[in-house]
Amino acid sequence: MAKRLKKHEINQDWCKGCGICVAMCPKDVLVLDKEDKAAVARPEQCIACRLCEKTCPDLAIEVFTEDSDSEGKR
Ligand code: SF4
Ligand code: SF4
Repeated sequence: MAKRLKKHEINQDWCKGCGICVAMCPKDVLVLDKEDKAAVARPEQCIACRLCEKTCPDLAIEVFTEDSDSEGKR
């Protein structure tokens, strides 16, 4: 069952710009912006594998998929 990406949430205050998520992403979705914060450059290429979320040492990035945040609030 493939999960579909809904959105990334990147905590700009926690991100220290180490670039691990950028390097780990198999689909080249993430980049470091000019402030050296992780940013989503190519969301359409994301396969929601969550490697970025799992490897970020500062827990600054969270991946939401269509079935992971269905707690019903909007
Ligand atoms: S791995 Fe985490 S701290 Fe490092 S650039 Fe990515 S989001 Fe920022
Ligand atoms: S979930 Fe996987 S494909 Fe999507 S941005 Fe993170 S590492 Fe890349």
